Amino acid sequence: MKNLGQTDPKIYQKIRNELDRQKNGLILIASENFTSTAVLETMGTVLNNKYAEGYAKARYYTGNKFIDNIETLAIERAKKLFKAEHANVQPHSGTTANLAAYFSLLKPGDKILSMDLACGGHLSHGAKVSLVGQLFEPISYTVNKKDGLIDYDQINELAKKEKPQLIISGATAYPRQIDFETIGQIAKDNNAYHLADISHIAGLIIAGQHPEATPFADIVTTTTHKTMRGPRSAIILSKNKLAKKIDTSVFPGTQGGPLEQMIAAKAVCFQEAMTDKFTNDQIQTVKNAKKIAQILIDNDLKLITNGTDNHLILIDCTPLNITGKQAALALEKVGIYTNFNTIPFDSRPAKDPSGLRLGTPALTTQGMKEAEMEIISQVIIDILKNPQDNNIKLKAKKLVQELTQKFPIYQELKY
Ligand SMILES: *Cc1c(COP(=O)(O)O)cnc(C)c1O
Repeated sequence: MKNLGQTDPKIYQKIRNELDRQKNGLILIASENFTSTAVLETMGTVLNNKYAEGYAKARYYTGNKFIDNIETLAIERAKKLFKAEHANVQPHSGTTANLAAYFSLLKPGDKILSMDLACGGHLSHGAKVSLVGQLFEPISYTVNKKDGLIDYDQINELAKKEKPQLIISGATAYPRQIDFETIGQIAKDNNAYHLADISHIAGLIIAGQHPEATPFADIVTTTTHKTMRGPRSAIILSKNKLAKKIDTSVFPGTQGGPLEQMIAAKAVCFQEAMTDKFTNDQIQTVKNAKKIAQILIDNDLKLITNGTDNHLILIDCTPLNITGKQAALALEKVGIYTNFNTIPFDSRPAKDPSGLRLGTPALTTQGMKEAEMEIISQVIIDILKNPQDNNIKLKAKKLVQELTQKFPIYQELKY
């Protein structure tokens, strides 16, 4: 990056600082991961310079011969990975993918039935602060108070009573498997569309570590940067009969020119996701999450649903007498990155909720396994039980440093 260093030393230095932060910390943010350097390289290419409004062979600009090849390859790979009839690879992010998907199916004022935000639903599934909540009429289903599991009977009852046009499955902070088949059936029985947003678990699904969504949903949306380990972006998958509607809803409906450098990076990510290495890493991601969950439980921490089936863990910090935010900030001080999160029926506000969310995708990409999870779990337990103890902090920092040195990332990057 010698050119950047010369043109803009301030930004260059901050990027170097951020690389060092990523190298020297432990990332347990469930929605984060490390892309390959091949994906990073692709994002920083001349593809950025090209306008390609429209779709392959039907662009509004000339000069798109190679862009068409790239986007078509990305589409073919996405379809193969998710066994989908149609793929649109242009959405800039998960939120814009969802917006485009909704506008392909709904009219303003239509009803959307989706998972409650505090129970792990996503802002873009109908929160009032989102455009989605203002244009459509959202209704939410929750998890069971007793066990924290999705209440499928409640979804069924609400679908019958409210007659939503769309039912959304998928979540950001749900540690168990989602029964897409059951939700798909409820949607069918009640004449609603079913959209499955698999953003968090797409990598697990590809690797056979979570039941598929494609056979049971009219539309599947996913980000590509979480368990999928690709660029910060998203795609929409669907049956052929919705293809045209979705494509026009993405462009010109909700976006202008596609980010072809990101589309190429998605294609690279999809290629990587077809390898045994990717599959093995997803399997290990779940093993690592289960290991952390078990150790936390053995040490009397309270976990939502009392464990995990996937890549994430949600801790209820209430019995520790700290808030989720205090927990996340205490861990950040020793170089462990997590995020505070609401828990189902949280009595605290989203800005300072009761939960702490942990995830294992990034650690697993780094090559860590159960032995390292044991060390990390113990550090987390010590910090959460003694957030003010300086000796514990010092010891924790040392362990974080040892682990990051033993499992280095991005050694080949020449920043
Ligand atoms: C992360 C996520 C999104 C949003 O993705 P952005 O790219 O941040 O807009 C949407 N839905 C779910 C379920 C997610 O987990």
